[in-house]
Amino acid sequence: MVVLGAGIVGLCVADALVRRGAAVTVVDRGAPVREGASFGNAGLIVPSHVVPLAAPGVLGKGLRWMLDRESPFFVQPRLDLELVRWGWRFMRSATARHVALAGPVLRDLHLASRALHLELAARLPDAGRVAERGVVILCATPAGLHEEVVVAEGARALGLRAEVVDGAGVGDLMPGVTLDVVGGVHYLDDAHASPRALMVALQTSLLAAGVAFRWETAVYGVELAGRRVTGVRAGDEVIESDSLVIAGGVDSSAFGRDLGVRLPMQPGRGYSVTVADPPQRPALPALLSEARVAVTPFDEGVRLGGTMEIARVDRPVDHRRVRGITRAVERYLPAFRADDLAPLPVWTGARPVSPDGMPYLGRIARRDGVVVATGHGMMGFSLGPVTGAMVADIVMGPSGDARVPKVGPLLDPERFSGRARA
Ligand SMILES: Cc1cc2nc3c(=O)[nH]c(=O)nc-3n(C[C@H](O)[C@H](O)[C@H](O)COP(=O)(O)OP(=O)(O)OC[C@H]3O[C@@H](n4cnc5c(N)ncnc54)[C@H](O)[C@@H]3O)c2cc1C
Repeated sequence: MVVLGAGIVGLCVADALVRRGAAVTVVDRGAPVREGASFGNAGLIVPSHVVPLAAPGVLGKGLRWMLDRESPFFVQPRLDLELVRWGWRFMRSATARHVALAGPVLRDLHLASRALHLELAARLPDAGRVAERGVVILCATPAGLHEEVVVAEGARALGLRAEVVDGAGVGDLMPGVTLDVVGGVHYLDDAHASPRALMVALQTSLLAAGVAFRWETAVYGVELAGRRVTGVRAGDEVIESDSLVIAGGVDSSAFGRDLGVRLPMQPGRGYSVTVADPPQRPALPALLSEARVAVTPFDEGVRLGGTMEIARVDRPVDHRRVRGITRAVERYLPAFRADDLAPLPVWTGARPVSPDGMPYLGRIARRDGVVVATGHGMMGFSLGPVTGAMVADIVMGPSGDARVPKVGPLLDPERFSGRARA
């Protein structure tokens, strides 16, 4: 069994498969010590994220943000048919009906994944712990708070725990932190953990469990014999396998072409800076609502992350947007001074963003032996463990773990592919 990609999704897939007795080879073009989307992210485990990225109102807000160089959203203008098609599909998906259908699916995925994150952390002590203090959404304006209250009502209707708090209530949640906010929403089912610690611990444990890693091995294509996969092409070599899991993050679309399916995806680039010696330490993670910035306390420091740049992966860091992140943090948490944060090194990663904001997860019906596990966008860290368990169920048969959801049409990797051509 070949797993293409050693990000959080690929490693969780390898973990779930090897634990059920499969022989697994993970292939990645990166080195064993590497950077990437799965390392410097905000580490939030988010059952609260029941509204997919493609939702009504997002477009209007996005267009307004495009005019502001420090805003959290940007589309790099470029002549690219894939980008135009992606934007068209995004617009078509941003409906109230899509949000209503996606909510319960996302809830079940995140809640199952949260439970599996806890099990993983218990099994891998070096992964650090999963902190179960929830996430608080901070609002700087009454209008922002009003919007978040509506979202919280939707989350509660889906059975999630969401408490609306005023400014003083937020202060109680974050003792010792100076705040300039009108209130917020505390999502009690959310949690957080260190993505880097989990990645390193997972990789070490997979090696010990006998998983073979092929590092610095770029895959250029999928080998097929009729309908059936026979391996992947890496340079002159074919790595043979009659079973393939595509977990290549934002670059997975290229393999869709080989397989005759469309996996439309755009890189949603984001930035983070980690403050090793923060002026104050929040007791739990905060999402700054109007600014779309995450503030996460880890053992290694407080991480400030945000921005969604639909832009080429190799685009240089846009320091105006990084400044947008640090200035937003100063606005909500004034002890963090943007000028003091300016010299910190900037990490960047690309989220694999599907046009409807839902992962691609399941078998490709028109080929034999291929499973797709990608497109998790802003939720790949949160959904890694459940994705692994679902892929293992698909490949090896149901494990009997009732918490693990079954794949359904909203996750179908062929949902943008039209009728079968193979
Ligand atoms: C600023 C920021 C904050 C975020 N915060 C959160 C958060 O709080 N919670 C959350 O759940 N998510 C968060 N995310 C999103 C999360 O980081 C991603 O969804 C997740 O890392 C995607 O994981 P992945 O395994 O699918 O892809 P990746 O981590 O990108 O891994 C894909 C792997 O495939 C390999 N690969 C690709 N193509 C090839 C090829 N042709 N040959 C060989 N190897 C190949 C790559 O080298 C890479 O190692 C955040 C993202 C950003 C940018």
